[in-house]
Amino acid sequence: MHQFTLSELQQHLHARDFSCRSLFEHLLTRITQYNTSLNCFIHINSDHALQQAELADKAFHQGNVTALTGLPIAHKDIFCTQHMPTTCASKMLANFTAPYESTVTAKLLDQGMICVGKTNMDEFAMGSSNESSFFGPCKNPWDISRVPGGSSGGSAAAVAAQLTPAATGTDTGGSIRQPAAFCGITGLKPTYGRVSRWGMVAFASSLDQAGVMTRDVADAALLLQAIAGHDAKDATSAIHPVPNYSATLMQSLAGKRLGLPKPMFENLQIDLEPAISVFKQLGATVHSVDLPHLALSVPAYYVIAPAECSSNLSRFDGVRFGHRCKDPADLQDLYQRSRSEGFGAEVKRRILMGTYTLSTGYYDAYYKKAQQIRRLIQQDFIDAFKSVDFLLGPCTPTTAFKLGEKQLDPLTMYLSDIYTIAINLAGLPALALPCGFQQDLPIGLQLIGNFFDEALLLNAGHQLQQQTHWHKATPASFN
Ligand code: GLN
Repeated sequence: MHQFTLSELQQHLHARDFSCRSLFEHLLTRITQYNTSLNCFIHINSDHALQQAELADKAFHQGNVTALTGLPIAHKDIFCTQHMPTTCASKMLANFTAPYESTVTAKLLDQGMICVGKTNMDEFAMGSSNESSFFGPCKNPWDISRVPGGSSGGSAAAVAAQLTPAATGTDTGGSIRQPAAFCGITGLKPTYGRVSRWGMVAFASSLDQAGVMTRDVADAALLLQAIAGHDAKDATSAIHPVPNYSATLMQSLAGKRLGLPKPMFENLQIDLEPAISVFKQLGATVHSVDLPHLALSVPAYYVIAPAECSSNLSRFDGVRFGHRCKDPADLQDLYQRSRSEGFGAEVKRRILMGTYTLSTGYYDAYYKKAQQIRRLIQQDFIDAFKSVDFLLGPCTPTTAFKLGEKQLDPLTMYLSDIYTIAINLAGLPALALPCGFQQDLPIGLQLIGNFFDEALLLNAGHQLQQQTHWHKATPASFN
């Protein structure tokens, strides 16, 4: 049962080939069995999920179901959920249970999906390896001596190890696409504003975007449909019609113009040629495009994201939310010790960097400059989309690296997002897809689309997956 995609499970549940209860018993047994070695779940939702599965079975019996009733999903532990803790993999929130449900998880819940648990991540989504989690690193199912990527590493590992057919993730600078590539799964980062951020713990609000991680593109389309759309509770969520994403998956790519951004292919060690030739066979024409400011994306991001994080994380003061130190001497001591004890090293580094660049005298030199660069990067993409319909590039510079390999060197760690960050700065959608193996480790590509053009990305990704088998490969130890 664990090998099925969401679409396959949907058919089996509707045909009543097996009950929801038996499906969840099976998945929860696997999760308990494998979580000891993978550490991809922070919280397993055993009893509650089984109760909901029984209710779903009743709903099937009564014929009162939606397309998603009884389907399993895992949520990154950054989405507020009422029945489970929301920790953001931080000591700061280790004992926090939200009094409300995020829009994304509420929408999935309302449509009948059942959450198997909350997945491990880098602390407050800051990282590229899942090693900054207070609950310990998550492992890559393809090789447990390697990282699954981050920050949505737990979601990626759980889907790759077939502990859940799908999971949510968030992508501020690559956190859906990079772990998807490292774990050989499909990951969609929608256009900024396409999906509500309400109830998603904020890291860098102008960059954060919720998305989905699945085994194939058809499932990503199904889930995007369920979570996309305007939300009055999120002022940055877009009032833009939501098309039927599944309806256009089979459209022909004949005549579509595929752009290859030159700077993404310089000294590239990941081989994307096999995938590019499939797109050519499918009738797409291939063009080289320039993104002249791409190299500036990492430095601009590491000014903007920490600046926003230093502001967003100021709410964790030991008073209203999160960890509070024991016996504070006075208010200053309460703030100081609660924050020193509650946050890990990477989060503190970002808060310090962000507070510095926002301070008087440095604002113009760093923050304003970075915003100007951001605009130039966005303009590069706008110009590129005048001559092509979508872009293709790598997700990562390498395959999954070893645990501990980059932990002592933040700069090298920051560079693992060199191909993904510009897309967040521009606010564009991108779809990560498995595209082969190097030394037995999965590699991934990303398709980048114009604003709100998720339908074309999903169409192109689905067409690629109709012709190839990369997305069907699973790690042998977890079959
Ligand atoms: N790795 C990047 C960072 O550490 C991106 C994180 C993310 O997308 N949440 O900021």
